[in-house]
Amino acid sequence: MTTAHYRRIVLKLSGEALSGTNGYGIEPRVIQSITKQVKEVAELGVEIAVVVGGGNIWRGKVGSEMGMDRANADYMGMLATVMNSLALQDSLENIGIPTRVQTSIEMRQVAEPYIRRKAIRHLEKKRVVIFAAGTGNPYFSTDTTAALRAAEIEADVILMAKNNVDGVYSDDPKLNEDAKKYDKVSYMEVLNEGLGVMDSTASSLCMDNDIDLLVFSITEEGNIKKAVMGENIGTIVRGK
Ligand code: UDP
Repeated sequence: MTTAHYRRIVLKLSGEALSGTNGYGIEPRVIQSITKQVKEVAELGVEIAVVVGGGNIWRGKVGSEMGMDRANADYMGMLATVMNSLALQDSLENIGIPTRVQTSIEMRQVAEPYIRRKAIRHLEKKRVVIFAAGTGNPYFSTDTTAALRAAEIEADVILMAKNNVDGVYSDDPKLNEDAKKYDKVSYMEVLNEGLGVMDSTASSLCMDNDIDLLVFSITEEGNIKKAVMGENIGTIVRGK
């Protein structure tokens, strides 16, 4: 059996990654492609936790720009991540992958509450654990959730799957054709140069806790497995 480079991973999917080309809602064909890729990795024996965003349904910032109370708008965003998590769970279980959804906001009829030790136990039993409802706190993001959960469960890496870019660039590659793609970059550079990787709260948390991050494109099938095998795709972001 081929051995994976990582033992335990956090896979961060943005909400948009589930929406396909229209950028809104949930596209079953796209979810199926992702879950097929997750299955390939699960079959290698890798322990997989997934953090999914909600931007394909609702973003708190947009609500607050429309005049809503920011905290309320953020709770709506967190609920959007629960919808995405249930869609992922459904698709994974359809292809025989056991999963558990844990929510940071209690909703026991829908999913388990987040309990760190229980999450680790599920991972050891090779269940894919989907962390829903972000951190449970407004003013945070699901990137920060990925960083926090990765630290808590002692994951080896965060795999940040992007659907619009294949790594970290010196500038927006869609607007500047001279933008340079990095193979490796540090969190300090990400923060100092304002590179579009993740928000500064998430970057700081990763930096302070020495969590490696691999930014790569999910649009090419098989890339999650390549990432897990340690192949040179995307950009690796490290503490130093
Ligand atoms: N959110 C929040 N606290 C968290 C995580 C998420 O308030 O800990 C809200 C926030 O409003 C955010 C929305 O949930 O806009 C969706 O999450 P995010 O924007 O991170 O999703 P993504 O961009 O990954 O799709």
